[in-house]
Amino acid sequence: MAVSRLARTIRESPTLRLNERARILRERGEPVIHLGIGEPKNKAPINALLASAARLNTGDIKYTPTDGTPSLKKAIIRYTEENYNRLVAPENVIVSTGAKQSLFNILFTILDPQDEVIILAPYWVSYPEMVKMVHAIPIIVTPEDGTFHPRMEDIEQAVSSYTKAIILNSPNNPSGIIFNEAFIAQIVEFCEAKGIYLILDDIYHKLVFDGLHAVPAYAYTKKDIESSHLIVVNGVSKLYGMTGFRIGWVIAPRKLVEVMINVQAQTTSNPSVISQAAAEGALNGVQSVVESLRLTIQNNRDVIMQELRSFNGLHIVKPQATFYVLPDFRAYGADSEKLSDFLLEKALVVTVPGIEFGMEGHLRLSFAGSVKDLTEGVERMKWALDPEAPNEIYIGDRKLIRDWL
Ligand code: PMP
Repeated sequence: MAVSRLARTIRESPTLRLNERARILRERGEPVIHLGIGEPKNKAPINALLASAARLNTGDIKYTPTDGTPSLKKAIIRYTEENYNRLVAPENVIVSTGAKQSLFNILFTILDPQDEVIILAPYWVSYPEMVKMVHAIPIIVTPEDGTFHPRMEDIEQAVSSYTKAIILNSPNNPSGIIFNEAFIAQIVEFCEAKGIYLILDDIYHKLVFDGLHAVPAYAYTKKDIESSHLIVVNGVSKLYGMTGFRIGWVIAPRKLVEVMINVQAQTTSNPSVISQAAAEGALNGVQSVVESLRLTIQNNRDVIMQELRSFNGLHIVKPQATFYVLPDFRAYGADSEKLSDFLLEKALVVTVPGIEFGMEGHLRLSFAGSVKDLTEGVERMKWALDPEAPNEIYIGDRKLIRDWL
């Protein structure tokens, strides 16, 4: 079968592949625990459900403007004003089918073949693949000091005359850390001085713990929205746990938004009108749902940290935000893919290999699931890997004895 050279280089989505493996095992009746998936278990906010149902009931389910309905854009403008202290115009906003499409639209709009985009490890898996899809080159920068926090000196060294953009994701998937304010201030100044786009994937900006705050990059630019090099991506997937509605958006200078609208018009057109109504309902509705989701996830973070702390040999950076933790498992194996496969086979626990995020030797665990899954999942991992853990365990109704350590 003839497949393009470019398409052949695009890697399978590891989380979707793991989901599929978990689904097949579950279908066989295996009690799989999924610590791989990045979505909370909450029901969609009632205001989202009512707004989308009301739209459905009209029977008027048609195209909308490519960049989103005026009323959803109005809600996004208000959200931006409240959370970013920036008043933007409707021409600065484009709504897309998830933040994923928002990111793709941005990259397609700003990159020429051979342009370079700086991606900071550990990074979200889709960034390098999306950059490759538009014939540009991902340049991965890994902090040399072994932390998860990027350093300006590493970034400055990686910048060349081909650098068009830097992607920043703070709070960060997969590490769960928030980049510090001094760094944000420096990178904003650096990008604006050099004319490099700074793409801010802010999808987790409200899922922060312990009273911390992810300071918006806008706070550090003196430029107005039209001359700024900041491009902000956001959406309802993580904010309200509305992953299935597929609504994300971009705030950018209008000259970029105009082109992004053309790109989207020629590919997917507008996101579904029903989902747009749901997103509008959520944004205009009771915001206590965000706080209640945040508190649930913060509690989950505490539970998984407690479980992981009694796991000998792990090095763990405590997440400050998101629903991910990225422990260093090198005490148990340098090859994260092998380790992840081993845990699925022996302990029926799904984890995502750190190599997928540019951090070999680590495993990403999601704590978006239930407390029971978190405690039982880590218990099973300990049983499979830690010689100090009891060598007998019940997985489902089977009693298993560890005979490999
Ligand atoms: N950016 C990051 C960092 C993410 O983790 C995700 C979802 N896993 C997305 C973007 C995409 O979100 P959406 O569901 O809105 O496409």
